[in-house]
Amino acid sequence: MKKAILNGKCSYCLSSFSQNMMEKHLLSCKSRLDFYNEFEVTSSSKTARNRRKKVDEITYYLLEITSAEYPEYWLYVDLSEDRTLHNLDSFLRDTWLECCGHLSYFAVNEGTYESQIDRTTDSDSKSMRIKLKELLLEKGMYIPYEYDYGSSTLLNIKVVSSHKVITTKNRSKLIEISARNDDIDYKCFSCKKEKATEICTICIVEKAGGRKQSSFCKSCASNHECGEEMTSPIVNSPRSGICGYTG
Ligand SMILES: [Zn+2]
Ligand SMILES: [Zn+2]
Ligand SMILES: [Zn+2]
Ligand SMILES: [Zn+2]
Repeated sequence: MKKAILNGKCSYCLSSFSQNMMEKHLLSCKSRLDFYNEFEVTSSSKTARNRRKKVDEITYYLLEITSAEYPEYWLYVDLSEDRTLHNLDSFLRDTWLECCGHLSYFAVNEGTYESQIDRTTDSDSKSMRIKLKELLLEKGMYIPYEYDYGSSTLLNIKVVSSHKVITTKNRSKLIEISARNDDIDYKCFSCKKEKATEICTICIVEKAGGRKQSSFCKSCASNHECGEEMTSPIVNSPRSGICGYTG
């Protein structure tokens, strides 16, 4: 059977691409480049504007974020170097992860940056309240991330590009989804006919088939052996079905 190619959408121009084409697209997407050029100051206008308005130099990063376990879930994020790991952590929680305030960490270069540091142990973890510009991020660098040390969701974060602009507009707070995978259609594992809307939080942990074997339509979910109360609605996130995450 041919493997389905899962598409996603570019937030700037709304075109669809498969994930393996998305990075290339974003780096050349005219709408995205226009967005950046819009706050770029050309060298000729620089001196003139300099007198009136403060001109800043700022670097933006494009990150590719994929689920280690379920790579069909992916995001691209544009963000400013003035954003902190804490901002990125909150963003990932809001977009994909937050169920009940679990701990999380990023591993950057030699350092571990945790959402909460246990002061009772001699852990050498650092705080997430550090700006990206202090982390010496480089193109091609990988940053592992984990949310929830128990029923964990592991993400791989890759620095796709860094883009320095000279600007008069303050976009130091920029953190936006530049592309994201479309909703994934699962067929009901029981009747093999209907579109699945529920996922069993027990089956996903216990059955080898992962999402395919744990996804059911509404009516099959009500007769499911683990009990209907153990199912959660399917959402567009690698956390779907884990620890009662409902989006
Ligand atoms: Zn685009
Ligand atoms: Zn939870
Ligand atoms: Zn069904
Ligand atoms: Zn089940």
